[in-house]
Amino acid sequence: MAAPPTPSPRFTQKVFGTLPDGQTAELYTLTNAHGMRVAITNFGGIVQSLQVPDRSGHLADVVLGYDTLAGYLGDTKTYFGALIGRYANRIAFGKFALGGRMYTLATNNGKNSLHGGNQGFNRRLWTARDASTATAAALELTYHSRDGEEGYPGNLQVDVVYTLTANNQLRIVYSASTDKPTVLNLTNHSYFNLSGEGSGDILGTELTLAARRYTPINAGLIPTGAVDAVAGTPLDFTTPHRIGDRIGAANQQLQYAQGYDFNYVLDSGGGALALAATAYDPKSGRELRVTTTQPGVQLYSGNFLDGTLHGKSGHVYARHAGFCLETQHFPDSPNHRNFPSTELDPGQHFTETTVLAFSAR
Ligand code: BGC
Repeated sequence: MAAPPTPSPRFTQKVFGTLPDGQTAELYTLTNAHGMRVAITNFGGIVQSLQVPDRSGHLADVVLGYDTLAGYLGDTKTYFGALIGRYANRIAFGKFALGGRMYTLATNNGKNSLHGGNQGFNRRLWTARDASTATAAALELTYHSRDGEEGYPGNLQVDVVYTLTANNQLRIVYSASTDKPTVLNLTNHSYFNLSGEGSGDILGTELTLAARRYTPINAGLIPTGAVDAVAGTPLDFTTPHRIGDRIGAANQQLQYAQGYDFNYVLDSGGGALALAATAYDPKSGRELRVTTTQPGVQLYSGNFLDGTLHGKSGHVYARHAGFCLETQHFPDSPNHRNFPSTELDPGQHFTETTVLAFSAR
């Protein structure tokens, strides 16, 4: 008997909602032959849902977020699922020097600039294109960030391609170019709950990070400039630990962040695709392996979720309802010469890749 035909990848599109300025945001759904499905809106490049099979093949949506565009428009704090730019994480006092000039950015996190300022890439409408091939559904998003936007120099052309592969990987490829020297740090800010969003906290998730060092922070969550070993501290995930096992330990770094909210320095050093993190959920059997070309990853344990947000299907997102693994350059790099450079110059082609690989056992 002939084998049943393998379903081919699918790309579909529907209206997601209307922005205050009258523009329409769309929701694109990529599906692979295993039924894995990711929905992404061109508003902020947000991964709105990510349906992944568990060990018995049941799908659940493993990312936090909202059912409607209005949900995302009304939330300026969490960055659920969004593309972050121009600069992921914090720049101290929203100031940095480049080419002998000081730049002042929009500050939106106390005195600091966080995730690109007031209207970061996460709140922009991107131009979308179906970039699917015969073997994989893909969405290409482009955005032109004008010179001076949120205080950043240079006209920046940004391109992000999300591809859902046949083997349950969501690949994210970032590219950019500029017409003036600028700084750039791009990431995706998905909050994962491998048991399914809204199913409780992520404290039982077993996490391993390929990082022996991290960048310590001060009370304002700004890097001190040091690069310290994690060995002997509750920040050490070089071997698997449940996220919740040591989260309440007496440790000044954990107290500053009210949980995990640290940039880990990947042992790979960045530059080529290498394993950054493995997260395993013993309840569902789902596992997420993150590989990246970036030199760092921000482990954020959803410390600032406080139960006031009502997400998909009315689910209440309490503290630690999701965790983030934001592959990135280090926070506040423009103010720390010893960190890998985040400068992008005219004529240079910026590219970074992160792969989220899902499986179950
Ligand atoms: C930061 C947190 C912040 C969160 C949501 C993370 O990338 O590290 O400090 O609260 O994003 O804004």
